[in-house]
Amino acid sequence: MTRLIEIRVEDHESAEWAEATARAIGDRDLRLAAPGTPAEQIDYLIYNVDSGLTDFAAYGNLKAIFNTWAGLEAVLGHVAWPEHVPFCRMVEPGLTEGMVEYFTGHVMRYHIEIDRFIADSAAGRWQKIAPPLARNRTVGILGLGALGQATAEALVNLRFNVRGWSRSPKDIPGVDCFHGQDGLQRVLEQSEILVVILPQTPETIGVLNAQTLAQMRRGARIINAGRGPLIDDDALLDALRTGQIAHATLDVFATEPLPQDHGYWKNDKVTVTPHIAAVTRADTGATAIIQQIDRHLAGEPLLHIVDPARGY
Ligand code: NAP
Repeated sequence: MTRLIEIRVEDHESAEWAEATARAIGDRDLRLAAPGTPAEQIDYLIYNVDSGLTDFAAYGNLKAIFNTWAGLEAVLGHVAWPEHVPFCRMVEPGLTEGMVEYFTGHVMRYHIEIDRFIADSAAGRWQKIAPPLARNRTVGILGLGALGQATAEALVNLRFNVRGWSRSPKDIPGVDCFHGQDGLQRVLEQSEILVVILPQTPETIGVLNAQTLAQMRRGARIINAGRGPLIDDDALLDALRTGQIAHATLDVFATEPLPQDHGYWKNDKVTVTPHIAAVTRADTGATAIIQQIDRHLAGEPLLHIVDPARGY
């Protein structure tokens, strides 16, 4: 029996997702639902909340929902789906590679002190101070999920000393892994560069606050591409002002776009990037979803199922 897939994403992305999904389907016994197909005939939904769909009651035969985003804070607590229908977050190579490139690039900016050499060059200053090797630099990563782990592996390959923090204990080759409040403190105390790639949950909001920023090594740098509310903005601005934190690169904010009067703009200790660290690519994203459907049809468990109780 041919299974039907419906795409419910933002209007401007619909055509791209439809083309990519049709390509990924290939000769499988799967089909994109024609416009106007009754909801109860749909088997799988490719979805994000910006489509405006928040009520799944009409989708009586749904087997799974595949979110096109990795982040879930706009879904959990705002959208309810039937308990028996798995809701999967997006994990796909395009998103992961983009995030690894973003973090690796910004870690390297700090590590090889690019800004100092650009300033020296502009000022005509010959200052022969070589940066340390990566093996003598400690990078901490808060969040060791799909994106944090891939970043950790890339940084280990570059020979950084990598410390990671997650909710549950982890064993990742080359990474000193920590969990729990004590573990957080250990990572913060040791990291010269801190990568933040946690999801936004009731437990992670404000994880970097006045107290935890004070636990960090003086002059540390922070790169946050998780979510804005992970950081207490006032506390960070204060820590930047005193030099406790030397610089921050921020991709995500409590309010996006970042309001023009925000203290992060025009702050020479902050680099703002406009939530571009990593985006889901329709081609690799659709392929990942079709692979999930293959698993489901083969009776294998779906991957990356969201646990509303856990918050991610
Ligand atoms: P994921 O695979 O679900 O991983 C989440 C990680 O955070 C896991 O290691 C988890 O621990 C850890 N964690 C969650 N709650 C925690 C807590 N209370 N204490 C300590 N660790 C905690 O998620 P992902 O795919 O890597 O994505 C992470 C986030 O990146 C997304 O939620 C989204 O907000 C953000 N993101 C941003 C962009 C961008 O462009 N800026 C793009 C994509 C995603 P366990 O391993 O123990 O479960």
